[in-house]
Amino acid sequence: MGDPKGFMTTPRQTPTRRPVDLRLMDWREVYEDFPRQHLEKQAGRCMSCGIPFCHQGCPLGNLIPEWNDLVHRKDWREAIERLHATNNFPEFTGTLCPAPCEAACVLAINDDAVTIKQVEIEIIDRAWDEGWVPPQVPEQKTGKKVAVVGSGPAGLAAAQQLTRVGHDVVVFERADRIGGLLRYGIPEFKMEKSRLDRRLEQMVAEGTHFRASVDVGTDLTVEQLRADYDAVVLAGGATAWRDIPAAGRDAEGVYQAMEFLPWANHVQQGDIDAPPVSAQGKDVVIIGGGDTGADCLGTSHRQGARSVTQLEIMPTPPEHRTANMPWPTYPTVYRVSSAHEEGGERLFSVNTTEFVADADGRLAGIRIVEVKRGDNGFEPVEGTEQELPAQLVLLAMGFVGPEKGRLLNDLEVELDERGNVARRDDYMSSADGVFVAGDMGRGQSLIVWAISEGRAAAAGVDAYLTGRTVLPRPIDPSDRQLA
Ligand SMILES: Cc1cc2nc3c(=O)[nH]c(=O)nc-3n(C[C@H](O)[C@H](O)[C@H](O)COP(=O)(O)OP(=O)(O)OC[C@H]3O[C@@H](n4cnc5c(N)ncnc54)[C@H](O)[C@@H]3O)c2cc1C
Ligand code: SF4
Repeated sequence: MGDPKGFMTTPRQTPTRRPVDLRLMDWREVYEDFPRQHLEKQAGRCMSCGIPFCHQGCPLGNLIPEWNDLVHRKDWREAIERLHATNNFPEFTGTLCPAPCEAACVLAINDDAVTIKQVEIEIIDRAWDEGWVPPQVPEQKTGKKVAVVGSGPAGLAAAQQLTRVGHDVVVFERADRIGGLLRYGIPEFKMEKSRLDRRLEQMVAEGTHFRASVDVGTDLTVEQLRADYDAVVLAGGATAWRDIPAAGRDAEGVYQAMEFLPWANHVQQGDIDAPPVSAQGKDVVIIGGGDTGADCLGTSHRQGARSVTQLEIMPTPPEHRTANMPWPTYPTVYRVSSAHEEGGERLFSVNTTEFVADADGRLAGIRIVEVKRGDNGFEPVEGTEQELPAQLVLLAMGFVGPEKGRLLNDLEVELDERGNVARRDDYMSSADGVFVAGDMGRGQSLIVWAISEGRAAAAGVDAYLTGRTVLPRPIDPSDRQLA
């Protein structure tokens, strides 16, 4: 424990966000730099708890008190070793994780949690700066070939683990670039893609092969996949989106979030000058109050929307924990993300009844009504109907699971009751030698879970191929339901 009184003498401090006016003019990450000496003091707030509940909150089982202590003692070199021991990609979680570890921090019972996420990102940023993240090339090759389908955080974590123990790993991705939702979906202002590219360079240097623009199941058939590889990891994500059956849904101007966000990524990558679906000059309505909706909000503002309204069917969450969301669970409280801070209106307890189109079929507005919970779910409140002007509506209502296309059909894998790919404790699906990790088996979730499952599936694959494994398996997932 670095500073026995740190938690009493040092208040929690987090980096400030750049001024809204300024950051709306670019797509860079929104946070200012955080001075290193402040960070070392922040790490000193950690109490090195006898039972560190932060561990329990983290799906990766990150060794949080250990690296807090190392940072407080300025031993950054050792801190990155301890961080990488459980997390292949701390720069992804350090920028994007909702930090269930902080919700579970013991200090958060009666004070502000330790700034765990900030400590994490500062450790990995410094490690890259100092050259402490070299490629880890395997000493011996096993001669076994593994195909990873999907290049999001789950596929990348599985691939890195398997490459490092000597297997020949090829990652297939149907998009034109590697990265899954980290590449196309998550906006630049939440995580700059240079972070992803830097990590991919390391993976290539370690020996992982990447093949983009290959739709497995179609461009590469399941027969070829089975013939050419000794094991397969399915990491195709939960890409089937939820739709809304309201009248007028086919009006021109109603898009899924994932028909909108990736175009902004393509502009930032320099592929195109302007997105074919843009919020510029429009009244935008986003249906869905979650993170994807917030990403649409921040993107719409940067594209120059005239107005943005975000609708949520659930009531306004409470400001603080309530009795039914006690510490250390991850609470559903009212959160103001950086995108919310940038403007727009948030409406809670409202449902969409109709999309209104003009004579040419182009979206002109959206009719909504207030709702309250009744015996039959959400019921409309009479007399509360209203119409909002809208030339662009973005549907951000989540995802219902993996796509049921040729890949899953031809592999004949069983699905669970929620429509995700069913798997055993070792992450093998019902098909021999075919493993599954991330959203494809878990359903829509978080990056930290995808990395955790990618690591666990890699251990399963290695044991399947060699009869034993030295790869760590994150702790029983059933113990980790806090996020
Ligand atoms: C807009 C948005 C923002 C989000 N923001 C956050 C956030 O801030 N923090 C957070 O923790 N989580 C966030 N999430 C959730 C998080 O991104 C996912 O949980 C995570 O990316 C899942 O990782 P994955 O590897 O399982 O799948 P994905 O990242 O979805 O990657 C799957 C990849 O597989 C590819 N694929 C699918 N089928 C095939 C096939 N047949 N052949 C080849 N390739 C295929 C897909 O093209 C895709 O690139 C967000 C999700 C969305 C949609
Ligand atoms: S729960 Fe909080 S205070 Fe305790 S060890 Fe973890 S980070 Fe430190």
